[in-house]
Amino acid sequence: MSFLFSLCLSSRHFNLDSKSFTITTLIGQRFGVGRFYMGHRANPLAFQGTCSSDAPMTSTNGSVGVQGKQPLFSFGVISDVQYADIPDGRSFLGVPRYYRHSIKVLQRAISNWNNHRKLKFAINLGDIADGFCPKDQSLTTVQQVVQEFEKFNGPVYHLIGNHCLYNLPREKLLPLLKIPTLKGHAYYDFSPTPEYRIVVLDGYDISAIGWPEGHPNTLEALELLQEKNPNADKNSPVGMCGLERRFLMFNGAVGREQLQWLDNVLQDASTHGQAVVVCCHLPLDPGAATQEALLWNYDEVMDVIHRYNCVKACLAGHDHKGGHSIDLHGVHHRVIEAALECPAGSDAFGCIDVYHDMLSLSGTDRMASTEMLFHS
Ligand SMILES: [Zn+2]
Repeated sequence: MSFLFSLCLSSRHFNLDSKSFTITTLIGQRFGVGRFYMGHRANPLAFQGTCSSDAPMTSTNGSVGVQGKQPLFSFGVISDVQYADIPDGRSFLGVPRYYRHSIKVLQRAISNWNNHRKLKFAINLGDIADGFCPKDQSLTTVQQVVQEFEKFNGPVYHLIGNHCLYNLPREKLLPLLKIPTLKGHAYYDFSPTPEYRIVVLDGYDISAIGWPEGHPNTLEALELLQEKNPNADKNSPVGMCGLERRFLMFNGAVGREQLQWLDNVLQDASTHGQAVVVCCHLPLDPGAATQEALLWNYDEVMDVIHRYNCVKACLAGHDHKGGHSIDLHGVHHRVIEAALECPAGSDAFGCIDVYHDMLSLSGTDRMASTEMLFHS
């Protein structure tokens, strides 16, 4: 073991979201998912239980929310269901994964959301089927999870994740998720109310998974991985230090066209005085997630976001234990806890009440509740 390698390992516990990564030098187990907080982690304000299936939420439209105010609107949130009809397993660090139970978490989430008055929509932050799902079951498994989402009494907005793309190529996945597509891309935006804009980023725009072999975006991703990651297994961060450890094959980047699109959307939102919530499967701030989970060009995306004052919060999945930070520009970053890691009978889903000056996430069980007060 090299000095560099031992230095890197001693500085953190990593815990990620790879289908195929193994560190044979260590223990030869699958890489798991988790979180490593850096620097400016925010304090999640835990007031749990208001979104439980047996206790309908009280902080919603038609009733009094936090601070005695009524929210502009509310929406449901869930991430990393990663369902598969396979026995339970463990992550690289031994964190249990409950592949068959995760769909029950989703079912309870939908039931809760449907009992929650006037939820405007629900959002799935990605990875609905696990990469270990037998390939001959990929299509039916994705369809099964989508059918569960369709039981929600309102629109569901999906993000794609690496595990989705292990199961199905974009051309098959995006229509199933009803993602509005432009040349196979999966980024879009919508306005649930005139005051707000929700921006969904495609974190696997530049990626070695999901696009056809030889596609320019695949080639660009492979070239970047070749440059940044010295390992034969590009899902391995062995020997890589600090933020460089994000250059792993199970992550991806936002491409040039999408960056320009984001710039245009934020400019438009600013013109119309809208507050913006950005959603991306891959986290955008090192303070809220482990380095190995970050979007390859999170810094470029945040540079665009920080040009404007309209983005108030970024929501992500992928890093299963979740996290919360506030960056130097006052933007909240909330990484959502995974449904996959809920033991039998426990849950990880939430509802977010949206106000002019804050978001209030009411989490259930393993999902921490978080108040995100806007700084400007
Ligand atoms: Zn993921």
